[in-house]
Amino acid sequence: MPEIALLFSEKNFEYDVYTLVKAFYPQAEIQTCYEGEDSLPGEPDIRMGVRETDDSFVFSVSSKEKEALVRTKAVPDGTERADRKNILKQLVYTTLSEYTGIELPWGDLTGIRPVKIPMSMLEQGMSNPDIAKKMREIYFTSAKKTALAIAVANREKALLDKIDTKDGYSLYVGIPFCPSICLYCSFGSHPIDRFGKMVEPYLQALYKELEHIAAIMAGRKLTCIYIGGGTPTSLDAAQLEGLLSLIENNFPIKDVVEFTVEAGRPDTITEDKLYVCLAHGVSRISINPQTMNQKTLDLIGRKHTTEQIETAFAQARKIGFDNINMDIIAGLPGEGTEEVRATLEKIEKLGPDGLTVHSLALKRSSRLNYLKDEYAGISFHNSGEIMDSVQYSAGRMGMQPYYLYRQKNIAGNLENVGYAREGCFGIYNILIMEEKQTIMAAGSAAISKYIMDDGRIERTANVKDIYNYIERIDEMIEKKETAVREYLK
Ligand code: SF4
Repeated sequence: MPEIALLFSEKNFEYDVYTLVKAFYPQAEIQTCYEGEDSLPGEPDIRMGVRETDDSFVFSVSSKEKEALVRTKAVPDGTERADRKNILKQLVYTTLSEYTGIELPWGDLTGIRPVKIPMSMLEQGMSNPDIAKKMREIYFTSAKKTALAIAVANREKALLDKIDTKDGYSLYVGIPFCPSICLYCSFGSHPIDRFGKMVEPYLQALYKELEHIAAIMAGRKLTCIYIGGGTPTSLDAAQLEGLLSLIENNFPIKDVVEFTVEAGRPDTITEDKLYVCLAHGVSRISINPQTMNQKTLDLIGRKHTTEQIETAFAQARKIGFDNINMDIIAGLPGEGTEEVRATLEKIEKLGPDGLTVHSLALKRSSRLNYLKDEYAGISFHNSGEIMDSVQYSAGRMGMQPYYLYRQKNIAGNLENVGYAREGCFGIYNILIMEEKQTIMAAGSAAISKYIMDDGRIERTANVKDIYNYIERIDEMIEKKETAVREYLK
């Protein structure tokens, strides 16, 4: 693991430079320091420096093995902060690219929502070729990723144009229980065998919060409902019936354009739960294999078989679900192109309506992070080749990409992409990514986002801990009510 010392002359764009350096050196330990304040750490393997003046940036990189490279870029008079940042990122990107010989698929873009860039250009009326030219010139995105981002932006825009983003809202409901906890999970879900006695009190608090949301949002149009978590189908059929009935009785669900239940883990899916979902207007479900390789499923703690995935899918189809998404993860321990292709082959045989590929992201709070030394011998590999295989497979199933986002510490510095057949695009996913509509969120750790008239975004967050959530439910309800009064006039 190389050690990098990153020295700044000013405290202005440290985070932007840090994340870009990290994209070139994902395994590195990076220490930042400031001229005149800190001393450089002992003997780093690589030294980098950013010197900033009013009219220029200088970036340097040197190591024990390689001669130093120093590059300068001028900053025209009166340049705004956002453009200064772009100039610096371009300088760091081109210098590191020259130094390492690496070109990153997303160029110097390090944010989690790269589609926002072509989307805002589309909204300004720019043509697709002009957007592509601009993205490649300013951000150095590869031809493939530029095309992908523009295709997604066009599809998102066409879908969003049909939705009342101004006065409408969507609803998220979190169920933080799962049959077991996956190795890479960072959602703070609870294993239901240990926390089973907490389900009822949790649901009672959740009902209170949902009834309150329904009351304060009365008269507004509801666009999407998304029940996620966790795994909502960890609830038994009666509990699921209780939750869906409460939603149906309190919210205007007949106008909803999409109602998703994340069925997620196949070991929680039963025929009676599927019938309950169907009876209450659920229009989209997700059955998530993550991989169709049993060895990997065992390794990541999923505790179900590939046969259970196939059985759950067949049951859902037989009952009448015509919009079923499947999630897979690229970069799972020990899996490379061959394993992902084997998974895709099995998925193609099932024929879902949507396929979402996540690139494994090593999150600080996951067991995988705590146990990293135990898994040191196992590779976590994602590549452009793997992502291409997924894209071809989605194409063979008649799907198009419709949403895309990136995460910190994402395998291969790549992305997560949602594909779906026409008419099956996950609209809630787009709303979350594009942040164009208010989302009211209920449940522990749920974050509500209020989109104000001038486009600004405000948030209120529920507490993460389920015991606290139950105890402090009134406080969270009050916080929401104040926020709605203040932000959604
Ligand atoms: S199914 Fe999802 S929420 Fe549940 S433990 Fe696995 S990653 Fe976490």
